[in-house]
Amino acid sequence: MAKVVVIGAGPMGLAVAYQALQGGHEVYVVEASQEPGGMAGHFDFGGISIERFYHFVCRADVPTVTLLRELGIADKLRWKPTSMGFFFEGRLNRWGDPLALLSVPKIPLITKLRYGLFVLVCSRKKKWPQLETKSAKEWITAWCGEDGYKRFWETLLQYKFYEYADSISAAWIWTRIKRVGSSRKSIMQEELGYLEGGSRTLIDELVAAIEANSGHIHLGSAAQQIVVANGRKLLISRRTTSFQRSPRRISHDCFRIYQRSGEQNTKRSKLLGSAVLSSN
Ligand SMILES: Cc1cc2nc3c(=O)[nH]c(=O)nc-3n(C[C@H](O)[C@H](O)[C@H](O)COP(=O)(O)OP(=O)(O)OC[C@H]3O[C@@H](n4cnc5c(N)ncnc54)[C@H](O)[C@@H]3O)c2cc1C
Repeated sequence: MAKVVVIGAGPMGLAVAYQALQGGHEVYVVEASQEPGGMAGHFDFGGISIERFYHFVCRADVPTVTLLRELGIADKLRWKPTSMGFFFEGRLNRWGDPLALLSVPKIPLITKLRYGLFVLVCSRKKKWPQLETKSAKEWITAWCGEDGYKRFWETLLQYKFYEYADSISAAWIWTRIKRVGSSRKSIMQEELGYLEGGSRTLIDELVAAIEANSGHIHLGSAAQQIVVANGRKLLISRRTTSFQRSPRRISHDCFRIYQRSGEQNTKRSKLLGSAVLSSN
């Protein structure tokens, strides 16, 4: 049994803590905020729980659906036909299927065809390692032309990433197009999953499962320092909270990266991120 420390009680941190407990480890989660959930957290709006950011699940999110099943809340996932719009030159256009693309006015047919081919190839490709070193801007421009990039992508990237818009990875955009693009009932109908009660349903259930399995969640405790000692050994300390007068170490043990322990389900460990440390 290893001692595992997870930094952050967002959905990834909680899921990896749950997984480590399933593997029989002793688990501590340290969370800077007073609430678990991270970006999938919620806030109280006059007695109504509202998500900080809206969340949906795609058909390709198999690990998420597996986790919901394990937690016994798969029946809370509702698949809904959904639609999108494309606001262009003062008009809201229908969006999200081939006919919608062809019917957008004032865009040259060749630009639409290039865009359509681009999305089709994105959704069919299984691996695309060449994208790791490309920016989304140069990759999309190569497929859709400057005109296609400017009309369909530039504003979206600028509003989402601001000064980083030009350097966002092509690999990230590709997986996003593929993930959302393949979440469909048919070629004409997109379908997305929503959790009854919002992401809070998953967060609450993960917290309950962690606590029921003797895991420890420390809210209001920011990891402040990771000290590398003896090569790959790491040490974590945490911030003073209102309950502690002085900073103290979460453990006197040395920690090593969980993913390198070689004893876990590697596929899932990779998915869950690298902010997980476990003792030798
Ligand atoms: C507007 C918006 C919409 C989204 N929509 C979707 C969607 O529809 N579907 C989907 O799958 N994903 C969506 N996401 C992404 C999703 O929210 C994230 O992928 C997910 O929350 C990442 O989880 P995480 O645990 O890795 O990180 P986070 O949720 O960011 O959690 C990190 C946690 O670590 C804590 N922390 C940070 N530093 C420290 C420290 N030093 N010590 C201790 N704790 C620390 C933070 O307080 C936080 O609680 C959306 C995100 C946004 C912003």
